[in-house]
Amino acid sequence: MHLSQRQLFLNHQAQTTRFPLLLEFSKAEGVYLYNEIGERWLDLISGISVSSLGHGNEKVKAAIKNQVDAYMHLMVYGEYVQAPQVQLATLLTSLLPPSLNCVYLVNSGAEATDGALKLAKRVTGRSKIIACKQAYHGSTHAALSLNSERMFKEPFEPLLPNVHFMSNGNHDDLSMVDNETACVVIEVVRGESGYIPTDEHFLQALRTQCTQNGALLIFDEIQTGMGRTGKMFAFEHSGIVPDILLLGKALGAGMPIGAFVSSHERMMTLAEQPILGHITTFGGHPVVCAAAVAGIQELLSHNWIAQVAAKERLLRERLQHRAIKSVEGKGLMLALEFESFDQNKRIIDACIANGVLTDWFLFASHKLRIAPPLIVTETQLHEACDVLLEQVEKQA
Ligand code: PLP
Repeated sequence: MHLSQRQLFLNHQAQTTRFPLLLEFSKAEGVYLYNEIGERWLDLISGISVSSLGHGNEKVKAAIKNQVDAYMHLMVYGEYVQAPQVQLATLLTSLLPPSLNCVYLVNSGAEATDGALKLAKRVTGRSKIIACKQAYHGSTHAALSLNSERMFKEPFEPLLPNVHFMSNGNHDDLSMVDNETACVVIEVVRGESGYIPTDEHFLQALRTQCTQNGALLIFDEIQTGMGRTGKMFAFEHSGIVPDILLLGKALGAGMPIGAFVSSHERMMTLAEQPILGHITTFGGHPVVCAAAVAGIQELLSHNWIAQVAAKERLLRERLQHRAIKSVEGKGLMLALEFESFDQNKRIIDACIANGVLTDWFLFASHKLRIAPPLIVTETQLHEACDVLLEQVEKQA
C-alpha cells in the first residue's frame, strides 16, 4: 500500500503534539511558502523568528554552496582554526560592546542557554539560578529547568536544583538576586508570553542588582536578536549590557545555530579546571557559520533593520478592530490579543486557510503571532492585514 507523505510523517517522525498542522510545502521564496500546486502562503511567523532574511536569500545560498565545496565538518569545535567560525565570531563581536568579545558557537538556542548556565556557575562558583516566570529558554533538561510552568516540567523532574523564579518587571523580586546567585536569565522581549517588552527601568535595576551582588546577567536574545526589534540586538534599546548574551534562531540565516557570547576572560574558565569544560562536535559547523556570516552581511548592507519601526507602525495602525484587545510587542514581533484561545484558534485557522501563516504562543494561547521576515514590504504587510482583518471580522 502506498502511504502519503503525511501518513509517513505521522508514522515515523516523533510527534510533539497530537494536533500537528500538517501543512506541506515544496518551495519557499522571499516571504512566501508554496505547495506542490503553486498555492502560496504569506509567512507571518518566519518559522518562529528564524527567517528574518526571508526564504532563499541568494547571498546566503551562495555562501553555503561555496563552503560545501571548500569543506564541511573537519573537527569538533575549538581545535582547528576554521575560517567561517573565525569570521562569524569576529563579525558578531564587532557589532557588540567590548565586554562581549568572545563567542562560543553551538547548535541551538537551548544549547546556548545550557552553555551559558555552565559558564555562570564556573565563573561565580555559585549554583543559584534565577529565571522569570513564563519565560522560555529551550527544551533540554537545563533549559527546561528555567521554565516556571509545572505542567511542562513535572514529568521530567528532577531537573536542575536551586532555580528560582521572579516575575519579569516586579521590582520587589529583585531582592532574590543575592550574593549566592550565579546568574539571572531574562528575555528583553518576552517571547512565549506573547511578545511583552521587559520594562527598561526594571532592566536597569536588575543590572545594578546583579553587579552589586556579583551575579551574571544573561539576556536571552535568541528570538529578539539580529534586528527583529529594530536594532541588531534588543538590549541596545535600553543601553543595558548583559554579561552573557544568548543568540540563535535568525543568527544562522535559516541554518541551525546557537551562540553564547561573553568576555574572553570569562570564557577561558571553560578551558581549564576542568579542561574541556564545554564541548560540542558540530557547534560552529562551517557551512552554518558561512550562512550566518552572509546573513549578517546582508542585514548590514540593507536597511531592513532601520525599516522595522515603520513596519511596526503600519501594523499597529492597520490592526485595529473591536475584537483585537491589544497589540503588544516591539518591532516585527507583535502579538494580537483576543478574548480566548478558541477565538484566536478560529482566526489563526481561517488565516491559514486564506494564505497567511500565523500561530499562537506557548504561554499565551489567546494571542496571535506576527513576526514576518524583516524583508517584508509594506505592500505585503497590507496584504497580510487585509486577510487578518477579514478573518477577525468573520470569526470573532
Ligand atoms: N530562547 C528563546 C527566547 C526562544 O524563543 C527559544 C525557542 O523558541 C529558545 C530559547 C530555544 O531555542 P531552540 O529551539 O533553538 O533550542
